[in-house]
Amino acid sequence: MLSKVISQANIDHVEKWFERAEKIVIVTHVSPDGDAIGSSLGLWHFLESQEKNVNVIVPNAFPDFLRWMPGAKDIIRYDKYKEFADKLIAEADVICCLDFNALSRIDAMADAVAASKGRKMMVDHHLYPGDFCRIVISHPEISSTSELVFRLICRLGYFEDITKEGAECIYTGMMTDTGGFTYNSNNREIYFIISELLSKGIDKDEIYRNVYNTYSEGRLRLMGYVLYDKMQVFPEFNSALIWLTKEEQGKFQYVKGDTEGFVNIPLSIKNVRFSVFLREDTEKNMIKVSLRSVGTFPCNKVAADFFNGGGHLNASGGEFYGTMEEAIGLFKQALLKYEELLLAKK
Ligand code: 5GP
Ligand code: MN
Repeated sequence: MLSKVISQANIDHVEKWFERAEKIVIVTHVSPDGDAIGSSLGLWHFLESQEKNVNVIVPNAFPDFLRWMPGAKDIIRYDKYKEFADKLIAEADVICCLDFNALSRIDAMADAVAASKGRKMMVDHHLYPGDFCRIVISHPEISSTSELVFRLICRLGYFEDITKEGAECIYTGMMTDTGGFTYNSNNREIYFIISELLSKGIDKDEIYRNVYNTYSEGRLRLMGYVLYDKMQVFPEFNSALIWLTKEEQGKFQYVKGDTEGFVNIPLSIKNVRFSVFLREDTEKNMIKVSLRSVGTFPCNKVAADFFNGGGHLNASGGEFYGTMEEAIGLFKQALLKYEELLLAKK
């Protein structure tokens, strides 16, 4: 049995909304990752089974390695089909906001969602949920929004209605937000849920291969280049930095998602507990910052302090508007500011 993570009041409230709603829109954060797409499609499959008129809308492109997911072809990109998406958002009875805690995380979609009369509910696991939804299902102690979607459907009493396709999406989100169950993954109930998803007939090994072993040759060579030439280790701070310019990405035929996971690699060096990856964005004129840590080092604090960002204790991100040199300078300032925590025993 699963413990009751989501409050009964929230479950009752969602039940009422879903019962009455005909048109439902599901939205998730910019540059959607496996959990964003997995939770959105997991809920989408469920609501389809309840014969709702339901659409998933995302702000922009998601990586190729998520395209195999059942339902992915029906996802509407706001940057491509703004007018159509605006109409769906405006006419929705309920808007489900998945895997984000602030309207700013859905970029250009924020105004349309804020203006819609649709009732808004949040299902998310980031700290500090913003105040833009009537129902707030926010559980930072849970490692993925996809897991919360599973818990929500079960608590509504519809485990039976989860299809194999829905289960595949939920599993994908749980897997990607825990690095294939290698971090934030000590809650034993995760494995109970996986067992339940397996009962739906999912092939978890195939899902792993679909996500992690379908990269291009260029991506692997880019990784080789980065590790050989563009990684700097700061042993005196238990930290590492990697950075990439637009030009370098171009040399390796970069496509979105190709640098996914790079930021984690330096953490495999003994004693490195903090890793930062700076990448000149190919769409916007900014440097995308990814931060990772192991143990108790709060990389989300560094993200907030130095890079206009936030996120989880061990995985966070931000954006920097300036030059690469300036961003590297900020990283070095962060090492000095956080030296004590970086060198702390645990
Ligand atoms: P990633 O490094 O994979 O892009 O992001 C890791 C985590 O950091 C995300 O799950 C999200 O919680 C957070 N994050 C990423 N980018 C941003 C950002 O620009 N602003 C904020 N507040 N959080 C971010
Ligand atoms: Mn997530």
